[in-house]
Amino acid sequence: MKNNKNIIVLGGGTAGWMSANLLHLKLAPLGYQVRVIESEDIGIIGVGEGSTPQLKVFFDLLGIQEHDWMPLCDATYKYGIQFRQWCQSDPKRPFLDDYFHPFPASSDAQTAVDFMQACHRMMQGYPASVKPDPYFLTAYLSTQDIIPTRINTADTQCNYGYHFDSYKLGAFLSEFGQQQGIIRDVDTITKVDSNEQGINKLYGKNHAQYSAELFFDCSGFESVLLQKTLKVSFESFGNHLLNDAAIAIPTPRTAKELMQTQATALSTGWAWRIPLTSRVGNGYVYSSQYIDKEAAEMELRSHLGIAETIPARHLTMKVGQASKHWYKNCIGVGLAQGFIEPLEATALHLVQETVVQFIGAFLAGKETSRFQNAFNDNIRNRFDGIKDYITAHYCASNRNDTEYWQAASQPRKQTKHLKEILLLWRNGKDINAYITEHKLHQYYPTISWYCLLAGYQQFSHRQFEPTAQWHPHFAQYK
Ligand SMILES: Cc1cc2nc3c(=O)[nH]c(=O)nc-3n(C[C@H](O)[C@H](O)[C@H](O)COP(=O)(O)OP(=O)(O)OC[C@H]3O[C@@H](n4cnc5c(N)ncnc54)[C@H](O)[C@@H]3O)c2cc1C
Repeated sequence: MKNNKNIIVLGGGTAGWMSANLLHLKLAPLGYQVRVIESEDIGIIGVGEGSTPQLKVFFDLLGIQEHDWMPLCDATYKYGIQFRQWCQSDPKRPFLDDYFHPFPASSDAQTAVDFMQACHRMMQGYPASVKPDPYFLTAYLSTQDIIPTRINTADTQCNYGYHFDSYKLGAFLSEFGQQQGIIRDVDTITKVDSNEQGINKLYGKNHAQYSAELFFDCSGFESVLLQKTLKVSFESFGNHLLNDAAIAIPTPRTAKELMQTQATALSTGWAWRIPLTSRVGNGYVYSSQYIDKEAAEMELRSHLGIAETIPARHLTMKVGQASKHWYKNCIGVGLAQGFIEPLEATALHLVQETVVQFIGAFLAGKETSRFQNAFNDNIRNRFDGIKDYITAHYCASNRNDTEYWQAASQPRKQTKHLKEILLLWRNGKDINAYITEHKLHQYYPTISWYCLLAGYQQFSHRQFEPTAQWHPHFAQYK
């Protein structure tokens, strides 16, 4: 079919190239030509190195195999996230200061029930083993150096995500997209015309002009089209999440890296550790209200045990979401639509979900904005649902050793849903019914809530049984 309708994607970061590839896949057959405009002067944010299992679905949709992209992007497998030192030492707690939030495997259907029953026993005051790790296959695999392709068969499927170099992933998706027919322009947009329909025309710094039927704003935190030009308001999550800055410092890869992201609580936030094949990505996500950037950098360097010769990158984070993700003929994707701090590495998951949901709504409405409101509600709820789960980490942690941790766990930081889930759990009631009734499992499954609340030992009765042994069911995967 001849392309007679145009889609412009402004921005060539991970969000821009993921969007462009999905849009091309689904809308090029209907006559849409996708064009990506990216600026060499501005560049990309260049962090964002961990994913959820959803990224595999993205590659599967595009027909890209792991052996095609993983080696080119220094990618490794990720079975979940290890949370370290999010609880303060307490003599009554026999297990260490860490727990694992796994990506579930099909074989966990059996062991997860054992885990949930253990939690219920503990809530009733009986001794139980409630540390999540030993019940989940991927927690076990991440420590055993067993890659998922060795495990996955018709009978057992384990979910996994990836770690990757975000510059290299962007370059790979750019190359792949252009081979499929996406047009790439390198230009910096200096002026935008808008009208009743929304965005009308973009003007490049060398006087090129660009127009289209639809505009995807993937321009990063600047949100050049959606927020700056169309004045869609931004709703900050500052009342719930305190972190607004980050520092990134790479270190060499060590001989023994686990297939997991590590998130270690520090004095004023937390540090990530993401192993790639070529290096380890590290960083500190913190609140600038409670520590200045120099002190934060010193704390990160001391946590990593590294000298000042390795340079650090300082970043600010705009945490919240646009009040509308699709407005007139413009759709915000990636940092341009909003951002939740990266504790569970959900940003690219939201990018993918936004574009897939948009395509569904656009096609259901016969290429009109008929389902725009439903789409906006859907994406807003996703942001809110994920925000609740991230906020829960701070509310459930018992740390109160700094002013930051005292503030981060304040009840005023809790939304209605989060308050209710915490209350039900602490009173030994069924959180599953509440999560299902309010459809919150669409954002985080009930089992993730169990892992989080048990991981932070949110039990009024505290009769912990030792938990060193992996569930015997996993011996077969050795
Ligand atoms: C500290 C930190 C850690 C993170 N960790 C994770 C993680 O583990 N997992 C995860 O999924 N996400 C993570 N994220 C989020 C992730 O980095 C982003 O979601 C992802 O990189 C996508 O960014 P983007 O494409 O929206 O924006 P950017 O990478 O900023 O790209 C913006 C693009 O727009 C272009 N542009 C801007 N203005 C103009 C203009 N006027 N003219 C032309 N082009 C323009 C730029 O050139 C660039 O190409 C993290 C973010 C931060 C801050």
